[in-house]
Amino acid sequence: MQDPALAPIAEKVYAGTRLSAEDGMVLLQTRDLHTLGELANFVRRSLHGDTAYYNVNRHMNYSNLCILSCKFCEFHRKPGQDGAYEYSLDDIRKQAQTAVDSGATEMHIVGGLHPKLPFSYYTDMLSAIRETAPQVHIKAFTAVEIVHLARISKRAVRKDFAGAVRAVFEDLIEAGLGSMPGGGAEVFDDRVHDEAFRGKIRSDEWLTVHRTAHELGLFTNATMLYGHVESLEDRIHHLCMLREEQDHAIENNFKGRFQTIIPLPFFPDGSELQHLPGPSGVDNLRMIAVARLMLDNFPHVKAFWIMQTLPMAQVMLDHGADDIDGTVVWYDITKVEGTDTHQEVTVSDLKRAIHEAGYTPVERDTLYRHVERDGAMWKVAEDAGQAVTA
Ligand code: SF4
Repeated sequence: MQDPALAPIAEKVYAGTRLSAEDGMVLLQTRDLHTLGELANFVRRSLHGDTAYYNVNRHMNYSNLCILSCKFCEFHRKPGQDGAYEYSLDDIRKQAQTAVDSGATEMHIVGGLHPKLPFSYYTDMLSAIRETAPQVHIKAFTAVEIVHLARISKRAVRKDFAGAVRAVFEDLIEAGLGSMPGGGAEVFDDRVHDEAFRGKIRSDEWLTVHRTAHELGLFTNATMLYGHVESLEDRIHHLCMLREEQDHAIENNFKGRFQTIIPLPFFPDGSELQHLPGPSGVDNLRMIAVARLMLDNFPHVKAFWIMQTLPMAQVMLDHGADDIDGTVVWYDITKVEGTDTHQEVTVSDLKRAIHEAGYTPVERDTLYRHVERDGAMWKVAEDAGQAVTA
């Protein structure tokens, strides 16, 4: 251990004691990346051994039209702008059929806050997928989209925010929603919010949406977009707020919970913040490790290879990550330099990457149940329960 400041934190980690926000700050600032990775790997291996999860999924970004203009976002377009698009229900059915044909277990669906589409478009979208691809799990809509849907469905968002959100979820669940992704959290801080994504919901609303989903039995994920205008304190504060929210779900025995934290590096290119350098490789490794160590009540940490790159995701498996996500096709949200938005790897690529990193690849479904597969045919393994709870 090169950094003596890590010694008391290491003692806590080995004893299973919760780390404080101050500990988190020490971890984020240490230059002893080796020890930091070792500590995160200790927790990761205690929870998951040498298992590394991947899944076979399809991403669908149904429209890039958005009423907001977050500074870090290069995805959104305004009506009439070059590159603006929206999927028809027929397009959506075709995507669902492609998901079935390719053996996907999940469709991951997010989009912009469309200025015109009615609420029925979203329930029709889910129903169309349900009909076309009954076996495929639908993970859809970030908290920001859920609030947008509450507004366009004329629910009393101002008077009764939680009630409006609950009503929207009830309709979406009936139409086929299976779980929620974790996007739109960015960084929970009002200064950062006002500077980089004004107009988006604030942290209290994001957390209320996820709490409501958990109460209704939906599993959700959480992200943190780092490396833009936030401070290191903001990052730790964000993780602590997520940890508290998960405590709340556990203490109240909600059927739904957060499953996975997904730290997402900010990509400056093409955004209004392109003068910023964006996070470095070291910062990315550090963030994965710190997320693993601070979020002691989250079962999973994902190294989202689309944004981290597959080689980096391999290294991250040794720094706290236990999941590298899926075979993803057409991920429009973030364009990694040197690629188009068609980002796909085969199952063999993912398995080989995991093997090379020294781990055992295990295919999971959205709820981390193990999957048995024969080509495009698959089923949840018979002895599969909820894989691991932290
Ligand atoms: S981040 Fe989401 S809400 Fe913000 S502009 Fe982009 S698509 Fe719209």
